[in-house]
Amino acid sequence: MAYEPKIGDHINSLDTPSMIVDLDLMESNIQKLMSQLLPTGINIRPHLKTTKSAILARKLNAAGAKGGCVAKLSEAEVISSLGFTDLLITCEIIGEAKVRRLVELFRKNRSIRIVVDSEVGASAIDEALGKSGIDEPILTLIDLDVGLHRTGVQAGEPALKLARHVAGLKHLKLIGVQGYEGHLQHVLDQEERKSSCLECMATLTQTADAFRKDGYNIEVVTTGGTGTAEFCVTVPGVTEVQPGSFLFMDTDYRNAVGTFYSNSLTILSTVLSKQGPKRVTIDSGLKCLTTDSGLAECKTLGYVYSVLGDEHGSLSWKDGPDLNVSDRVEMVPSHIDPTINLHDFYYAHRKGVIEEIWPVDARGKVQ
Ligand code: PLP
Ligand code: MN
Repeated sequence: MAYEPKIGDHINSLDTPSMIVDLDLMESNIQKLMSQLLPTGINIRPHLKTTKSAILARKLNAAGAKGGCVAKLSEAEVISSLGFTDLLITCEIIGEAKVRRLVELFRKNRSIRIVVDSEVGASAIDEALGKSGIDEPILTLIDLDVGLHRTGVQAGEPALKLARHVAGLKHLKLIGVQGYEGHLQHVLDQEERKSSCLECMATLTQTADAFRKDGYNIEVVTTGGTGTAEFCVTVPGVTEVQPGSFLFMDTDYRNAVGTFYSNSLTILSTVLSKQGPKRVTIDSGLKCLTTDSGLAECKTLGYVYSVLGDEHGSLSWKDGPDLNVSDRVEMVPSHIDPTINLHDFYYAHRKGVIEEIWPVDARGKVQ
C-alpha cells in the first residue's frame, strides 16, 4: 500500500521527518496579527515567501489580508497558476530569461505588481512589454533602500531620477514605493527596533511625498515584516505591510521579538539510535532543518540538538525523561522560510488529529 497520510489520521501515524502545523496556534497567530494591524486601516499583504502556499494565501485573505507578496518570479508563476493572482513580486526582475517569463506571466495575470531599482532594469521590462502586444502597463513600484543595503535605489536625487525615468516608460505604471527594513527585523531591543524602524519609515514616506510633488500618483507605500509591522502601521503615509514569518515563527524570531506569536510549525522526528545513556540520534539533519540562524530546538525543553550531517541530528540531555529508539520529538526550526522550502507538505493538525494537508506549492522555486 502506498504511503498516503489522510485527513483524520493522528500525527503519530505520520512517517518522519514530517512538517506539522498546530492549527490552534497558527490561527491564533493570524488572529493576533489581524487584530493588532487591521484597525489601523493599513493593507496587510502577507509575504508568501514563507509559506509558498496558495491555500495559506487564501486563508490569510479570508482573515482580512489583501493580496500577497512573493519574493521571486517563479513563486509568482506557481501561486498565480493556482488562482491566487493579486501578487507583488518583491525582488527585482533582471535578465533576458526572467523578463521573458514576466511578460508571459503578465499576459495571463494583469494583477501582477513588480519593483524596480534601476533604469536599465525598468527599460528592459518596458521594451519586452512593448514587443508583446499587451496594451496594459504593468503596475510598478520603486524599490527604495531604507538601510538594508540589499536592493533599492538610494533616497533623494537617485530615487527621483529613477521615478522620472519609470514614469516616462509607456508599459510601466508607477504606483508606489517599496522600502524593506530587513536589517531591523531581529533587533533584540524593542525600543531600538522601533526607533530605527521609524527612521526608515521617514525615509520611505518622504520619498513617496517627493514623488508626489514631482507629479506622480503614489498610491502604495509598502514595507515591514514580522518584527516591525506594528511600528510601520503607526506612520502616516505607510499604506501596506508585508509580514510573513508571524504565521509559524521560528526560534530566531522568538528570541528577538518575544512570544506574542507562537511557534506553530515543527518538524516531527523519530529517534533512530541510542548513542549513550543521555544521547540519541534523530532522523532530522541539514536536509530538513536549516542552520543559518542557529540550531533548531526541541519543543520539549531540556533536549539539546546538534547536527550530525545531512540526515541526522543528535539530542542530548542532563536530566528529565530518557529518550529511546522509536520515540518521537518535535523540532522547532531556527529559520522558518528556508526550512519550509525543504519539505513537500504541511500536515496541519488540531490536538494531534490531521485536519488539512497543504502542498508547499512553490517549493524549490528560487528563480
Ligand atoms: N518583505 C520583504 C521584501 C522581505 O524580503 C521579507 C522577508 O525577508 C518580508 C517582507 C517578510 O518578513 P518576515 O518574514 O520577517 O515577516
Ligand atoms: Mn527569512
